[in-house]
Formats: sequence, structure tokens, C-alpha cells
Amino acid sequence: MSQPSNAHEGGCTCRAVRYRMTSAPMFVHCCHCTWCQRETGTAFALNAMIEADRVQLLSGEPEVVLTPSNSGQGQKISRCPVCKVAVWSNYAGAGDTVRFVRVGTLLEPGRFPPDAHIFTSTRQPWVELPPGTPSFPEYYSSKELWPKESLARREALLAKKK
Ligand SMILES: [Zn+2]
Ligand SMILES: [Zn+2]
Repeated sequence: MSQPSNAHEGGCTCRAVRYRMTSAPMFVHCCHCTWCQRETGTAFALNAMIEADRVQLLSGEPEVVLTPSNSGQGQKISRCPVCKVAVWSNYAGAGDTVRFVRVGTLLEPGRFPPDAHIFTSTRQPWVELPPGTPSFPEYYSSKELWPKESLARREALLAKKK
């Protein structure tokens, strides 16, 4: 996998919270669901899915805000305690072991383009999807789409969870 570098670092706007991903993420979602639109105040959310133990805190201690989610089980959004910018979320489905790092908080967000567009049935009408990237009206089967290496990482997480 790629080496840790500045590109894997990120943080909030006031700089109280800084973090580093110790590897590339497993997969990057661009989610066009109405929940993500409301939470971000914009057209979609860009989430890099990565093992929680591959995200090192360099400074600060994010506060966890339990936020309602589409599943009804809520998501935990980790925010800077000072400027309240969200740096990552944990969803009930994947649990605390997988962080959904908000790509826009990385120093070089352009290095992590979406691997898939999801919930495109509710995308903003002016958002044009690039032809080379898989897109789905709702969710999809990760078994069919994720690279082998990422599936192996996810398997390892599930094994640890038991
Ligand atoms: Zn901050
Ligand atoms: Zn969403």
C-alpha cells in the first residue's frame, strides 16, 4: 500500500484537531442521499472508509455527536470541540471499527476521488456523474465492487469484532 505522507493528514478548520491516516482508505464513497445533503449543507458527502486503528490523532480530541441517520440507528459524528467541523463518522452498521473520514478535511482531498457514487437517485439534478466511476441509485454489493485487498482488510475487521 502507499506510504504515509502529508497527503494522509487532515483536520478541522481551527486546527485544534489534526489526524493522520496510516494507509490509504479501503474505499471512498460519494453519497448523494438526502441525509448527507442536509448534514453537509451541500450536494453530497465524500467519505473515505478506513479502519479506526489506522487513524492517528495528532492533536485535539474530537467530541462525538450522536446524530439521527437513515437506518434509524444513528451515526456518531466526531467533531472538533472548538470549531465543530466534522472530521469523521461511525455508522451503526460498520460499528466503531470503521471510520468514515470526511475527505474534504484532508490536506490533499484531490488524492482520494470517489470509488463509487451511491444514492444517485436523489442526487442534485445539476450533478453530472463521471462515466468511468461506478454509480448506484441506492446502495450496492461491496463484494462485487471493492478491490480484493480492501475486502481482505474488511474481513480482518469483522474477524476482530467477533
Ligand atoms: Zn477546530
Ligand atoms: Zn448519504
